[in-house]
Amino acid sequence: MEPHSCRCQELESERVLGMNLVHLLRVGTTELPVLEGLCEALPRCLPVACEILPFDLDPAPSYHPERQQFHSSELLERVVKLVRPRDWRFLAVADIDLYIPILKYVFGEAQIGGSCALVSTYRLRQEFYGLEKDDVLLRERLLKEAVHELGHTLDLRHCQDYRCAMASSHAVEWIDLRGSTCCSFCRAQFESRLAFSEKIG
Ligand SMILES: [Zn+2]
Ligand SMILES: [Zn+2]
Repeated sequence: MEPHSCRCQELESERVLGMNLVHLLRVGTTELPVLEGLCEALPRCLPVACEILPFDLDPAPSYHPERQQFHSSELLERVVKLVRPRDWRFLAVADIDLYIPILKYVFGEAQIGGSCALVSTYRLRQEFYGLEKDDVLLRERLLKEAVHELGHTLDLRHCQDYRCAMASSHAVEWIDLRGSTCCSFCRAQFESRLAFSEKIG
């Protein structure tokens, strides 16, 4: 590779590291190795840097005994309150069963065009479906969900291409059909919004 183009790439990564920093927030008892795996994997999928926050969030106040689940939007609201003025994105990672009142469950939730998103590993685990534990599959599914919810924070909507990271998923099998990257249309949107949010950030 030409030395000139090398330096350009370095400058590019310095710029990205400075601005598009995703803070991962551990919720409850989410396993640290799972969080660390996501922290490593996310920058390989998206032009972002990733860092685990030094504090956790207790999900207990969002628990609703009548559903025996945690209210996703209530939890997300508490994540929003933790964002500091210079922060770019917060991605909360939980291991609990999330719901919103109109749905039986959700894999995650995001502020459309906002700074916060939430994902849970609860229904991404094979054990939940009575199958054998599979950590590789769990990490893959979590990465796909993380990319998807971060896409929503950049104002991306659902994509009709079932292989795209921005495709909707109503069951875990749909997540498995999806990639951890976007189709060319969503990728272009992702990149232009990242560039835009850098300018206003
Ligand atoms: Zn979605
Ligand atoms: Zn797409």
